Amino acid sequence: MQKRSSTKIFILFITILIIFLALYLHKSPLFEKNAPKITLEDEIYWNLKDPLPLKISDESGVKFLRVTLSDDSNSVTLFSENYQNLANEVEISLNYPKGGFFSKSESFTLKVEAIDGSKWNFFRGNSGILESKIIVDKKSPILNIVANSYKITKGGAALVVFKAEDENLKELYIKTNFNKIFKPLPFYKEGYYFSLIAWPRAEDSFQATIVATDKAKNKTNASIRFFLENKKYRNSNLALKESFIGGKISELAREYADDFDELTPLERFIFVNETLRNEDEKTIEKITSKVSSASLEKTITPFYPLKNAAAVASFGDYRTFTFEGKKVSHSYHLGLDLASTAQAKIVTTNPGKVVFAQKRGIYGNSVIIDHGLGLYSLYSHCSSLLVSEGDEVKALDVIGRTGVTGLALGDHLHFGMIVQGVEVRPEEWMDSKWMNDNVYGIFKDAKALIDRQ
Ligand SMILES: [Zn+2]
Repeated sequence: MQKRSSTKIFILFITILIIFLALYLHKSPLFEKNAPKITLEDEIYWNLKDPLPLKISDESGVKFLRVTLSDDSNSVTLFSENYQNLANEVEISLNYPKGGFFSKSESFTLKVEAIDGSKWNFFRGNSGILESKIIVDKKSPILNIVANSYKITKGGAALVVFKAEDENLKELYIKTNFNKIFKPLPFYKEGYYFSLIAWPRAEDSFQATIVATDKAKNKTNASIRFFLENKKYRNSNLALKESFIGGKISELAREYADDFDELTPLERFIFVNETLRNEDEKTIEKITSKVSSASLEKTITPFYPLKNAAAVASFGDYRTFTFEGKKVSHSYHLGLDLASTAQAKIVTTNPGKVVFAQKRGIYGNSVIIDHGLGLYSLYSHCSSLLVSEGDEVKALDVIGRTGVTGLALGDHLHFGMIVQGVEVRPEEWMDSKWMNDNVYGIFKDAKALIDRQ
């Protein structure tokens, strides 16, 4: 009796031990059953020059790693390692064998084999294998500028048409010396592109380079040559008076500043001239940075938004404000102010899509129209808006009436032109000679050259 019960207890004990052992084996990272994770794309474009990065991760550590490169007839080991100290993550760079190794194949198979440090599989560990197709691409993109504006003026715009060739083109953009990227659009025939580019008013120098990269990271740069015209803009000094701050400025500050009551008259002015102006310009920049493909190259005509208007302030004026004899703030005027009669009709002389039609800070009631090509026009201080966001407008449609909303003292239109988020000189877009030299002329020359190629 005694003996049988102790045998029973012993069997029970062993059973429990086995269950715990099984649970331990099941849960323990020492016996994990997951194969190493190999991060690799199905298809990799390789220029055979830049090292190929490879990452393996495993919860019990990477014990063995081998990478081979092969084609139909040959194979070479690019990497092989038995690790003594197991790491959960292994990152290596693969280099193409020096002097090559076999055929002039256009594609290879890259095979990655990894074994982890798990005691699973009778202490052999879990293994993972991944194969990836390597497509060899050693050719850099070819860039050729077909035609471009002869010059660009500080604060103004220019056009470039170019050809970009690459079997595996990935990125194409125009970089500048002031951290702005311009996006090109397809032009006329396959492989050709154009872009309007701009020299911001506040930048002292201008440099633009076309950059093309392919999927194998081959890269080509082509700098665009322009004659740079460093236009002198007007500097003006304005002495602030309490009465001015008490009027329009306080109205705007009361509407937009959360801490209006705590601000002194001067602080209200600085809020409106700097904080609010900045917010407004960011809003405009955001809306006008999109490049829609609608092409207006045939129909675009000089802009002439207000009949019988006189210019009352130019684009680019630099204004310094003084208060009680001290310089307190400054700003750039990024539009052309036009005045005629009060509440005069504003027309768009070019078709497009209304992308903004609402009240905005110092600009007051405003309309922004997208004309395609990365080109936008802006109409501000309106007393009334006659279009809504999303409307398609035709040439000569009346879009609103002039007024004094926002930071406007007398009834006028603040007219702006914008290229991919950069406010440019509206004077250029109102000048048929400039447009001929920089828009139609360039497109026409480019087409003639492309047809000859
Ligand atoms: Zn203005």
